[in-house]
Amino acid sequence: MLTDTFGRTHNNLRISVTDRCNLRCTYCMAEEVVFLDRADLLTFEEIAHFVRVAVPLGIDKLRLTGGEPLLRRDLPRLTAMLAEIPNLEDIGLTTNGLLLANQAQALFDAGLRRINVSLDTLDPGRFRAISRRDGLERVLDGIAAAKAAGFHPIKINAVVIRGTNEQDVVPLARFARENDLEMRFIEYMPIGAEAWERSKVYFAHEILEQIEQRIAPLVPADDYDPRAPAMDFQYVEGRGRVGIIASVSRPFCASCNRLRLTCDGKLRNCLFALDEVDLKPLLRERHDDAQLAETIRRNVRDKWEGHEINTARFVKPPRTMHAIGG
Ligand code: SAM
Ligand code: SF4
Repeated sequence: MLTDTFGRTHNNLRISVTDRCNLRCTYCMAEEVVFLDRADLLTFEEIAHFVRVAVPLGIDKLRLTGGEPLLRRDLPRLTAMLAEIPNLEDIGLTTNGLLLANQAQALFDAGLRRINVSLDTLDPGRFRAISRRDGLERVLDGIAAAKAAGFHPIKINAVVIRGTNEQDVVPLARFARENDLEMRFIEYMPIGAEAWERSKVYFAHEILEQIEQRIAPLVPADDYDPRAPAMDFQYVEGRGRVGIIASVSRPFCASCNRLRLTCDGKLRNCLFALDEVDLKPLLRERHDDAQLAETIRRNVRDKWEGHEINTARFVKPPRTMHAIGG
């Protein structure tokens, strides 16, 4: 088991497959970015090798992310390679949806079952302002294709920023409810390229208030898990669920079970970690699985108590979100 000194066990791995992106969301990355050389990215074989070593240590759940993961050529091939690994119970994907219409079926056929699509607004002008690109229609087509391919549930992730898109909370929640999608709102975190201000965080309780006042009352979902990152709610009447990831107002560090592998092979034990361990030499040159396993164990053991967003001690990691893997 991958246990740290605070007693937290880790079974959940996020794998970034690229730092490239076809959007430039202001809260995530800068407009101009120098991307990694392709030769620096882990190959699919190296990623699958890492997972084969990590699963016997206790990893049974993973999520592919980026950057925009669907920009990595032939992602269904990686998905199929991972789906074959015994004792890996769950493979998910987080995408901005722009390229999903063409890839949803192939991903489903390769064994992917859980998909999260990021969408912060249904307004084309605000979509452009937030992501610095056009593409709302393509995202909506991608969601429709994912439904048609058989993905269920499909989660929609929206970051809510005060002064930018708090007016989108209700339309997004309605859109999700009407289309049998699960809506998840995320508090704005200091992990992007732009200067973060606490005053721009639109808090979980404000999101809930909007939905309850303008759509319908919510209650904790039947499967509500107080230790999970998302606080899950369901409407009192009728169908529909809403999740809120309140990383700022209700940090879930005490029950964190996540590890991250960046696209260039760095192991990170926290989204906000300031240190990372370079696994590429072990995966690419030395092929020493015992040492790789020990390095993963040590990285988990060394994990800190939690991020310090809410203190003056907080230091933003040198990598921004697109290069870590959200
Ligand atoms: N490109 C894909 C996408 O957008 O879904 C996957 C990578 S993206 C970094 C993963 C998630 O991180 C997205 O849902 C995005 O909204 C979220 N994210 C990025 N920057 C954030 C921030 N500063 N605060 C909160 N969430 C953030
Ligand atoms: Fe790209 Fe996702 Fe970051 Fe937006 S949130 S810039 S889509 S990686």
